[in-house]
Amino acid sequence: MKSLYAKSPAELEKILKLEKSYQAKQIYSWLIKGVTDYDKMTNIPKKVRDDLKEHFPKAISSKIVKVQKADSATKLLIELYDESLIECVMLTDGDNRKTACISSQVGCAMGCSFCKTGTMGLVRNLEDFEIVEQMVHLRTLAEDITHIVFMGMGEPLHNFGPLMSAISEFHRSEGYNISMRRMTISTSGLVPGINKLTELNLGIRLAVSLVSANNELRSNIMKVNRSYPLPELKKALISFQHTMGKRITLEYCMLSGVNTTKESAKELSQFTKGLMCVVNLIPWNPIDELEYESPTESEIRAFTRELDSLNVSYTLRMTKGRSISGACGQLATSTRR
Ligand code: SAH
Ligand code: SF4
Repeated sequence: MKSLYAKSPAELEKILKLEKSYQAKQIYSWLIKGVTDYDKMTNIPKKVRDDLKEHFPKAISSKIVKVQKADSATKLLIELYDESLIECVMLTDGDNRKTACISSQVGCAMGCSFCKTGTMGLVRNLEDFEIVEQMVHLRTLAEDITHIVFMGMGEPLHNFGPLMSAISEFHRSEGYNISMRRMTISTSGLVPGINKLTELNLGIRLAVSLVSANNELRSNIMKVNRSYPLPELKKALISFQHTMGKRITLEYCMLSGVNTTKESAKELSQFTKGLMCVVNLIPWNPIDELEYESPTESEIRAFTRELDSLNVSYTLRMTKGRSISGACGQLATSTRR
């Protein structure tokens, strides 16, 4: 047993072979509070604590190895049980919204050409408890996390089972109790995964990294588009929306001179037809080894003017945490194995 996280009180009762079921609930609530040292679980009898120490020496499998702060973002570097490294970020908004940005994989198999995580390739999937433990670590920064976005390292829909298990843990009323509409899965556009989400109809929000609404260009910069081209993606989004009834976010990472032309804006407006969505414009965050450039302010303005004239609703996400490389697409770790 590597970790006691991502388990319900009932599961804990079984795993820990507890005689009294209320003790499982007590241990569960200590874990939720981030207490992983059995001796600090003061309402648990010493005999039970000693037993736990002997049979389950570690309640948590990962640890924080580095903390970096920049204005409204704090990035944590987390070491996993096999010494792999992942990152997670806490973002604070003006209106006191505290968002945990969580990783789902070590690296990513999707290889999008503008993204740092993509350059790592896929090292491995995270287990459910490793996804949940990021919340434990982020809560040492602030206990009142209100939102979760699966926008850290990795493609969440490429690690579907553990992702779903972590989501139900985040949602559990005795636990973190985060409502589904406050959680967002961000995907590069894995159509089968989106369809599975539609079937499950959890009420969770969806964000899609569109980046380009031109099929050929998108295939060049995002390999996933070669398997699931734009028309298929749009079809999947329409069904998702039909079931879910909520606005979808289209993330549009702006690459200077690549997807910021008048033509690109027109294609984007075409793609949004028939979808209830908002486009989230994210100026590309520079990554040394990649050859793109961030758009200039006047380029961004020209593009947003174009979107205004086409009646496309958008938000311009100002880059948070760029100086600590905790911004979108800047997350990558070198593996020490
Ligand atoms: N794999 C998922 C979630 C993680 S990526 C996905 O692709 O949606 C999170 C967001 O960062 C995506 O919207 C992606 O388009 C964006 N992104 C990736 N690299 C970036 C970069 N260098 N600058 C700005 N945004 C980037
Ligand atoms: Fe993976 Fe998302 Fe980066 Fe693409 S943008 S490589 S899917 S993490």
